[in-house]
Amino acid sequence: MKALRFERSVPRFAAARLAGSLAHGRGATVGPLRLRDVDLPDLPGPGWQRVRPRLAGICGSDLATIDATSSRWFEPIVSFPFVPGHEVVGDLDDGTRVVLQPVLGCAARGIEPPCDACTSGQVGRCANIAFGHLDPGLQTGYCAATGGGWSTALVAHDSQLHRVPDALSDEAAVMVEPTACAVRGAFRAGTDATTVAVIGAGTLGLCTIAALRRLVLTDDQHIVAAAKHPEQRALARELGATTVVEPDQLDRVARRLTGSMATGDGEIGRLTGGVDVTVDCVGSADSLAQALAVTAPGGRIVMVGMPGRLTVDLTPLWHREIELVGAYAYGVEPTGRPTFDLAFELVADAGLERLVSATYPLDRFTDAIAHAAEAGRRGAVKIAFDLRTEKERDRL
Ligand SMILES: [Zn+2]
Ligand SMILES: [Zn+2]
Repeated sequence: MKALRFERSVPRFAAARLAGSLAHGRGATVGPLRLRDVDLPDLPGPGWQRVRPRLAGICGSDLATIDATSSRWFEPIVSFPFVPGHEVVGDLDDGTRVVLQPVLGCAARGIEPPCDACTSGQVGRCANIAFGHLDPGLQTGYCAATGGGWSTALVAHDSQLHRVPDALSDEAAVMVEPTACAVRGAFRAGTDATTVAVIGAGTLGLCTIAALRRLVLTDDQHIVAAAKHPEQRALARELGATTVVEPDQLDRVARRLTGSMATGDGEIGRLTGGVDVTVDCVGSADSLAQALAVTAPGGRIVMVGMPGRLTVDLTPLWHREIELVGAYAYGVEPTGRPTFDLAFELVADAGLERLVSATYPLDRFTDAIAHAAEAGRRGAVKIAFDLRTEKERDRL
């Protein structure tokens, strides 16, 4: 069967890192990702099923992997060679359409009794992602044993499968996993803020705006969104941002909205106050520095975008007693409901299938990845692989 496979190769990692530093996503042309004819992964045990992907999205974390800029943190919790792709809608052999919840927690790993996190439904915090009868891998898409979405077939455990309602299109269903990450971030922002800033308006930023507006905040709570590109600004407004600005205007608007004063100027300028909560959906040194600049003393920054090693002056975090919290994957939210269930509803209610901008067949993967890497600039949001047109899919 056909699969895009990420292989361990030191020279190709080096080439990918160099190419990726020249242009985002360029690592795909020279790096460890190859289109291969591979064997279907074996079913690891009872409760496992084959899934034939229909659509599989390209995530920011995939792009970091392709450009070899991912943090070394992941090394012990990834196994090679792996097939990327953790945003997946596909078919079981009995024809049931499913969305994959990609975290490979205790249930998928056959670990009994499960860890405390899994027991309480917080599978994203599972302690055992390198253990059990599977190869290490924090998620499907980073684990050698399971295959991944960028292929014509993978294997998944029953605990990972969510049936797709008939009314939901494939395009809507492929948005459920990234939306779940955004729902997680929105709940980590909390319900109390008068004003929330959202930095970044790619998939995560836009889904976070929708989640804040529909699940966490009331209509009189203000969302100010910073978005680089005109199409992103239009979508941010449609999905519920109260004020939408270009990133370099965020400081000024935060000052006005919160009645703060500016002291100093240029690089060392700062606000006396700021927004109550900032959700950083980019995860870069610049976005975190900006979050620190616009968040009020005693406020909170939620990191939704995957960071790497960042060099940031954390003095304001200390001096202003700002809380910095992470938001990864999914579990159970403070309302008592599973993040994935909330994400299914949000995708339908907010019409998030509109964020799927383009799809590609597997053999055009370098074009697909280039498009994903430049999505904002090209007026796009989510780019996905379309496996429905792969001829061998029906022969498997
Ligand atoms: Zn992702
Ligand atoms: Zn666990």
